[in-house]
Amino acid sequence: MIQTIRGTRDILPEDMPLWRRVEELAREAFRRYGFREIRTPILEKTELFARGVGEATDIVHKEMYTFSDRGREDREGESLTLRPENTASVMRAYIQHRMYADKSPGELTKLYYIGPMFRRERPQAGRYRQFYQIGVEVMGASDDPAIEAEVIEMLDWYLRELKITDTTLLINSVGEPSMRAEYLELLRAAVKLKLPQLCGDCRERCETNPLRIFDCKNGACQPVIAALPVITDSLDEASREHFEKFKAHLDARGIAYTVNPRLVRGLDYYSRTAFEITGDDGLGAQNTLVGGGRYDGLSETLGGPPVKGFGFAFGLDRMVMLLPEAEAARLRAADAPDVYLVFLGDAARERSFLIARELRAAGISLLLEFEERKLKKAMTQAAKSGARYALIIGEDEVAQDKYGLKNLATGEQESLSLKEIIWLFTTKNT
Ligand code: ATP
Ligand code: MG
Repeated sequence: MIQTIRGTRDILPEDMPLWRRVEELAREAFRRYGFREIRTPILEKTELFARGVGEATDIVHKEMYTFSDRGREDREGESLTLRPENTASVMRAYIQHRMYADKSPGELTKLYYIGPMFRRERPQAGRYRQFYQIGVEVMGASDDPAIEAEVIEMLDWYLRELKITDTTLLINSVGEPSMRAEYLELLRAAVKLKLPQLCGDCRERCETNPLRIFDCKNGACQPVIAALPVITDSLDEASREHFEKFKAHLDARGIAYTVNPRLVRGLDYYSRTAFEITGDDGLGAQNTLVGGGRYDGLSETLGGPPVKGFGFAFGLDRMVMLLPEAEAARLRAADAPDVYLVFLGDAARERSFLIARELRAAGISLLLEFEERKLKKAMTQAAKSGARYALIIGEDEVAQDKYGLKNLATGEQESLSLKEIIWLFTTKNT
């Protein structure tokens, strides 16, 4: 039997209502806050991520699905990669389509995306090789910290609306990359003293990018990491001021947060504000739900004009896992058809086809199975479908042009004309 490959999975119909809810509510949040959707290709040039995300990150270093495309004639094919994240792609699109042109001062480009990402990681609960992200990017000339607070306010509304309440907002500032050299030397010196106690990855990071050591998930490294100098103590003055304003904007919105001076995020492009939202329950070790921050230098890194940027991405997989049980049950129930059609006899079967078409045309969702069943069997089948009503058509109903509509929750049954049934569903019931 052929099965899904490691780290990938099918999202089955039982779970799709939860996925759709997470997506549809995100679209609603984005609509309210003035974001527009963008879709970029899943395949991009490897160079985009190598430059955009950073060579020394775990993602680029060891997690990308990269292959050489077939070349034309005798030329070598180019190196392509299944996107491991989407900020670099959105920035590429922003530059490629000159979205920065013809903008008045302070005008922002606010974009969002939804789609699959690919990373060759060790699969476990909440961690897949094909997973799904929803994210936003705000780009423009302004780096006002109010932009950051508003984006977080939107997430706050979104999580509450999804009934996901046990979360923590963690924030930090990682300063200006151009001002980071001094701190990195300090950090590298501290790390060097503890090198034997660190894992192989961290020893390598010490040379390539010591900041990445803070991302290490290896338990043995944690005591060492806890004692390392933090970037927050070495912030440049402008970044410190920016961080203070950002916090004040959160305070003004009544949004609670915890400053975590060891929060650096796993991508190289971040500057100044970095944040995460963690799920306090239900995600186990993979408890990071949302990750984001400011990436002011990314455009230049990709050959674009100087542009400021701020955004986040969250994992749909993990968001779905965090939906409370009652909410999940409600969503699944709402996914069932409105009506299950029960017919008894050949004339009723023929009439069913017409009735079904009329009701569907009126916007009612209706399940019609073509197998003739005894009434009791058919009613069992109706209940199993989860439908709210059974519509019963027998010989008498055909003759009178009135049909039995049974509420499957209460057991009440009424005899109604087609017009009355449509009226019932389109006015009060939906
Ligand atoms: P983590 O620390 O869990 O590895 P990350 O720092 O690699 O996360 P980002 O690259 O910032 O995460 O992606 C943002 C969000 O995307 C994460 O918070 C998580 O919800 C989700 N995500 C990242 N990698 C995976 C994965 N392999 N499987 C499922 N979701 C993921
Ligand atoms: Mg990761």
